[in-house]
Amino acid sequence: MFGSFKIGSILGITIRVHVLLVVLLALFAFGGSRSTAEVISLALLFPILLLHELGHCLVARKFGLGVLDITLWPLGGMARMTNMPESGRVEGWVAVAGPAVNFVLAALIIPVWMLALMMDERSDLTSILWYALWINIVLGVFNLIPAFPTDGGRILRAIFSRSVDWERATERAVFVGRIFAVLIGVVGLALGNWVAPLLAGWLWWMGALELAQVRDRHRVREQEVPEPQANAFSHAPFDGDFPLRAKRRFTDEDIERLERHRGRLRPFGDGP
Ligand SMILES: [Zn+2]
Repeated sequence: MFGSFKIGSILGITIRVHVLLVVLLALFAFGGSRSTAEVISLALLFPILLLHELGHCLVARKFGLGVLDITLWPLGGMARMTNMPESGRVEGWVAVAGPAVNFVLAALIIPVWMLALMMDERSDLTSILWYALWINIVLGVFNLIPAFPTDGGRILRAIFSRSVDWERATERAVFVGRIFAVLIGVVGLALGNWVAPLLAGWLWWMGALELAQVRDRHRVREQEVPEPQANAFSHAPFDGDFPLRAKRRFTDEDIERLERHRGRLRPFGDGP
């Protein structure tokens, strides 16, 4: 992705961070009087996002897909994989894995947070754990919204693909996704969130992009099927002027030529 740089690799998967994310994080950390707990809480978002993406990637690998890299950027994480097949089963499981990681993390954090709460309600640790719990629940739930191409949207396409072909399933998932994208934008705006309409626009655009890709791929595939040889006569664009049709009568020369070659012509049907 343009503007991103490598920060390391986990299990052979390159991890990249987008410059914009670093800038936003620095602005947050140094822009105002932030407490250490606030900065740590925000910084926690990235390992959590990374684990979400790793969930997708490891399941994808189980299905034999190649994982190129994971990029963290302001709108979340993005994993690039090779040769994702048009299979509802594969895509469904790969999509489910991300939110599943968040719910497992939330379930692991709850007892630790409750313990911290009992020890000291107002400690930094309690608020950091609360924030980590909240991030995981929000990420898990938000990604399950079927606003294709979110994880939920991909799960929906996987469900649709059980009854219709991949192109039709994508069209349906994109249609449902647009309804949810508009809802996210409108509800967000009503709540005073200006990022929501941007996110809605981005989801709409990404859905349209993926639909166009699927349609393109299917068009190419249809063209690869060999067409029966076209009949030159049935496709003649001319009418009266077409040379073969214009010659309505045999000339004496034609008859002479036919007679000369008769000996070499094979009779139909009952030869040789
Ligand atoms: Zn995901």
